[in-house]
Amino acid sequence: MDPPRFLIQAPEARSLAESSALPLPHFLLSLVSSAQSLARHPISNFPVAAVGLGPSGRIFIGVNLEFPGLPLHQTVHAEQFLLTNLSLNAEPRLDCFVVSAAPCGHCRQFLQEIRDAPNIKLLIASDETRDFTPLSKFLSHRFGPHDLLPEDAPLLLEPRHNGLSISEESHDLANGYIVNEELKIAALEAANKSHAPYSGCPSGAALMDGGGKIYKGSYMESAAFNPSMGPVQAALVAFVAGGGGKYEEIVAAVLVEKVGATVKQEGTGRLLIQSIAPKCQFKVLLCSNTPT
Ligand SMILES: [Zn+2]
Repeated sequence: MDPPRFLIQAPEARSLAESSALPLPHFLLSLVSSAQSLARHPISNFPVAAVGLGPSGRIFIGVNLEFPGLPLHQTVHAEQFLLTNLSLNAEPRLDCFVVSAAPCGHCRQFLQEIRDAPNIKLLIASDETRDFTPLSKFLSHRFGPHDLLPEDAPLLLEPRHNGLSISEESHDLANGYIVNEELKIAALEAANKSHAPYSGCPSGAALMDGGGKIYKGSYMESAAFNPSMGPVQAALVAFVAGGGGKYEEIVAAVLVEKVGATVKQEGTGRLLIQSIAPKCQFKVLLCSNTPT
């Protein structure tokens, strides 16, 4: 497929697979190498692509994003990008995926946040075998949401609404600045979809480019904490997947998080934005749970 894209709609995916005479899951393999060209890997020079299929029949692509000048833990792994891409497009699960290199332990852990994670089928493109293997074979004795959450709690990719609204305090914080209304609403929407069941500190970010296009991303937690995906990183995934070019094109960013949050995103979010888009205005708006 030329040029490679981050999302292929179901009818096109079906027709491409049919013309290759391959079942859809095996067709994913043929997309991996072109998808690797979408990676942004200035530190490792190691492009990674993860090509996934959801129950809707759509194909989603994830790649690694690396940020020079910042600690390595700001890096977005291809599998994290893939899950963010699924979340941005309201895909409730991941059925199977093909990845260019074996997933690291961090990603095997992050994938546990999805319902029925042990049965996600995985194929590593560099292996000679052409058989999909359940994720449970790559991470046995898993630690995950089932260890910490009630069985009926919504998991990553499942619909949720955190019931947040922008609080009065945020107006003081943004005092003297005019925060673009559309950007503010987008960041609040992202915070309301945020998967943060372990800390209870959901957050969301929205970015705007010079043309006024908005990209939003939700904070996504991992039961093991460290593989969690920050809200600004998630919004950067939306920027890259949405056709954004250089990060310097981002002119405004809004982060929405809870008043008095135990887990705060402001410090690292600001650091990331300042490093990749030094002229971007970064605003934080505080929110609280809407009284019911
Ligand atoms: Zn990884």
